[in-house]
Amino acid sequence: MNESERLSLVEKLHQKGITDKAVLQALNNVERHLFVPTAMQHHAYSDVALPIGYGQTISQPYTVAFMTQSLELNPEDKVLEIGTGSGYQAAILYSMGMKVYSIERQFDIYLRTQKLFDKMEIRAIIRYGDGTIGWEEYSPFNGIIVTAGSPKIPPSLKKQLAVGGRLVIPVGDKNSQSLKIIKKIDENEFEESEIPQFTFVPLIGREGWNQK
Ligand code: SAH
Repeated sequence: MNESERLSLVEKLHQKGITDKAVLQALNNVERHLFVPTAMQHHAYSDVALPIGYGQTISQPYTVAFMTQSLELNPEDKVLEIGTGSGYQAAILYSMGMKVYSIERQFDIYLRTQKLFDKMEIRAIIRYGDGTIGWEEYSPFNGIIVTAGSPKIPPSLKKQLAVGGRLVIPVGDKNSQSLKIIKKIDENEFEESEIPQFTFVPLIGREGWNQK
């Protein structure tokens, strides 16, 4: 049942403009229902964001696929995710062969996802903390993906990007953001494009929104 639902979701994403075969394959391989609360599992293969507790959400599959495609990564590349949440986005990147580092600022979510990764043998490296300042120890990264909406582009993240790498981040106010794709051309040279109308939960931290 899950398998056929997943396949039809992947077909829908293809029709909506996801063309990267590795991305489509990953969305077909990773079982999204294992990353959502039991009560929500029957919606796992609908193209919608779902609540994961603590006021947070697992992103819509289209958004996950679009952001992953926008990173233009290759297997073995190093990728940093800000906002581990359910772990689904990290699991997609891991299944594509990337070296995945991910940071989550809510301790209970971090713990729950770490346990899930242990159980599923997903060897992504996750940490509890404020991701707006990046993860310098493992930098530079070939890609950085921010899965929460920010008022601005955190300078630390631009700094920790490898030359040739891309940062994908929703930037805007708390209700609506546009997705920015920033490519590092040279140490101080960036190329930027943006796609309007996305909605993410807020990125809270030193280089994001102030804590309430
Ligand atoms: N990528 C996730 C989406 C989770 S929603 C998934 O696939 O399910 C965004 C997450 O970002 C939330 O869990 C929230 O707690 C977290 N977050 C918000 N601000 C953060 C920050 N400064 N550093 C790390 N995580 C943050």
